[in-house]
Amino acid sequence: MPYFTTLASGSDGNSTLISDGNRHFLLDAGISATMLAASLHSVGVSPEDLHAIFVTHAHTDHICGLRVFEKRHRIPVFAANGCAAALIATGSVPGDLIHCFKPGDLIELSGVKIQSFRTSHDSPDSTDYTFSFGGTKLGFATDLGYVSGDVRFAILGCHAVLLEANHDPDILMNGSYPYQTKLRILGDKGHLSNETCAEFAADCVREGTKHITLGHISEHNNSTALARCVVSSALPMGFPLEIAPHKAVGRTVNI
Ligand SMILES: [Zn+2]
Ligand SMILES: [Zn+2]
Repeated sequence: MPYFTTLASGSDGNSTLISDGNRHFLLDAGISATMLAASLHSVGVSPEDLHAIFVTHAHTDHICGLRVFEKRHRIPVFAANGCAAALIATGSVPGDLIHCFKPGDLIELSGVKIQSFRTSHDSPDSTDYTFSFGGTKLGFATDLGYVSGDVRFAILGCHAVLLEANHDPDILMNGSYPYQTKLRILGDKGHLSNETCAEFAADCVREGTKHITLGHISEHNNSTALARCVVSSALPMGFPLEIAPHKAVGRTVNI
């Protein structure tokens, strides 16, 4: 049965295990290699069990554990061209372990179809992915400047979705971040607000999504209670909505 488990989610680190019990994939490696291994072990997966690591983009909160993890475990890494170039240039992944593709390419590994799609975010060839195990499709959409046509096309119709609910615009604007950083987060290459997430989440549910997890929630410019409140108010009463914890392993979502 396909499932996913967030190992960490937020501006201090992001990583998610995606699996069907036999084929295990890691999405991003934004916590230390030691934490990654410990988190995987805590859900019964050893690093050597991973078929591949897929990287969304080369920001620190998505790749900071990659260099050491790759040195220890040598797992194949998949990344879009511009992101892959950054991973090699920074020594995050040895050249012989990287697999490049164009944003939008479909990758098939051990019978699992992984669809990449371009996202609007301020990092070269930033992408997100859906993973299809037979007829079950899991979608992962964080670090979205806005919900583009590419994002909608990829995510609508997924059975389960991890969606970014990054910030509340009022908390952000009244907070202590530098003005330029605030503009970056609010802009088309930044992150999704609770309200925008809620609108898109409602669209997902109308198209058949049965489960939504909210992730990449800002610790400074949001709260989990507020994100849950704003998004759940746009969804049918009682819809299963999970919150990905910032620095802990989340609840496993079986689809
Ligand atoms: Zn980012
Ligand atoms: Zn991020």
